[in-house]
Amino acid sequence: MAGPCSVESEEQIIEVAQAVKASGATMLRGGAFKPRTSPYAFQGMKGEGIRLLLKAKEATGLPIVTELMTISTLDLFADVDVIQVGARNMQNFDLLKELGKTRKPILLKRGLANTIQELLMSAEYIMSEGNENVILCERGIRTFETATRNTLDLSAVAVLHNLSHLPVVVDPSHATGKAELVAPMAYAAAAAGADGIMVEVHNNPACALCDGAQSLTPPQFDELNRKVQRIREVLV
Ligand code: PEP
Ligand code: MN
Repeated sequence: MAGPCSVESEEQIIEVAQAVKASGATMLRGGAFKPRTSPYAFQGMKGEGIRLLLKAKEATGLPIVTELMTISTLDLFADVDVIQVGARNMQNFDLLKELGKTRKPILLKRGLANTIQELLMSAEYIMSEGNENVILCERGIRTFETATRNTLDLSAVAVLHNLSHLPVVVDPSHATGKAELVAPMAYAAAAAGADGIMVEVHNNPACALCDGAQSLTPPQFDELNRKVQRIREVLV
């Protein structure tokens, strides 16, 4: 899964979608509703962002994954293929229960300071309402370490595979916060048996409205994906 942190314009999302598809991505990511630490930071293009994601889906055939922050916007997600629940909403239990009443696949990201057990309980909130289409995502947790944005808990991949049948995706972009660390952690995630990898890719990272420092360029993503595929071949 690859794409920009945020949808910024039609040109941007279509260009990135075409590039990541050419490199072998099988799903396009892009935030339309953005949970930002500061209320003064770019909050996303919202409904218009989803409309542009759907245009990129039409142009490339790539299914799309994008974050839902509040259930009041659910109608806008009718044609979205996978709904993301972000780290900050992992324990928004009312939201999880409402998504459990849908049949949409849900990408559930681990909270910044949540245990693996708590992640699994959040998945149960969705599944106990009848929606068993849950994908777990390890995206790094907060520790005392400051060299990286978060600390990627790769052991979570193996632990989750032992405790659950659910697929596990790793997000090395939010885990590290630094573009130069994304590829090595993606390779490690693939080697650990991750079922998917979600990577932020931008056509002009220096000008990105959100998370430019951790965004790969399309050529960098191309190299990453080629190597990830080779690692996966070793494991089968
Ligand atoms: C994201 O994937 O765009 C995002 C905001 O991630 P997280 O919820 O893991 O911080
Ligand atoms: Mn981001």
